[in-house]
Amino acid sequence: MNERLLEIESWGTTDVGMKRRLNEDVFEIDETVGAYIVADGMGGHSAGEVASRLAVDAIVRYLRERIARVGENTWPDHWDTDRSAPGNLLADAIVAGHRAVLAAVGRDTDLKGMGTTVVAAVLDRRQGRLIIGHVGDSRAYRFREGTLELLTEDHSWVHEQVREGNLSEEAARTHPLKNVVTQALGGSAEPAVDILETDTAAGDLYLLCSDGLNTMLTDEEIERILADASGLPEAGQNLVIAANEHGGNDNITVVLLKVVELQPGT
Ligand code: CA
Repeated sequence: MNERLLEIESWGTTDVGMKRRLNEDVFEIDETVGAYIVADGMGGHSAGEVASRLAVDAIVRYLRERIARVGENTWPDHWDTDRSAPGNLLADAIVAGHRAVLAAVGRDTDLKGMGTTVVAAVLDRRQGRLIIGHVGDSRAYRFREGTLELLTEDHSWVHEQVREGNLSEEAARTHPLKNVVTQALGGSAEPAVDILETDTAAGDLYLLCSDGLNTMLTDEEIERILADASGLPEAGQNLVIAANEHGGNDNITVVLLKVVELQPGT
């Protein structure tokens, strides 16, 4: 079977929102390794932005050191047999991000208590698969043939309540404890990274976002904006505008990926 010739078009932005003074979100697009990352930092003073930046830089460094491109020449440090080599590699990279945050806290007690969520996607070009890893409540969605689907499960207190039937999705979105995550990078325990490996189809759109987007907009609102936009920049900008119009209570970060299948010979 011929290798599929997949490429990803991407676009990202981060916005401080309407209420916060600082932007503690960070995003990174690294086309060399094919990695796309959103991190949402937390912590006193400006420690949150330190945590998210440290984690993202460590994840990218880890991936760069071990691969030219994900899916080629990879051998992760640990081996989870439920995961592909790139899946194992991404999980290890996210744990490396956790350790970088933890090490910084160890060096500077002013940074104590800082942490960050992360959601990261890497393209396995050889298999035509997208590998998504996350810790915390930053999300990945897929928009395929007009329908939006949430791919990740938040590591958050409200999500646990939804799963146990104590809260509705709508109530969770506006709950006073909606920001409480059950695990993060930089916490005292090493995070259990969720890894999802999914096939891709030409035309698929993937959205990585911080909770400042999905607590301001319902999934239906996000779906409509993606359906109406004519390109990634327009889609991303309209998502941020809409989240701010709905209050912009938190920092808003959006990374969009579009899967493009190249025809042989092009
Ligand atoms: Ca946030």
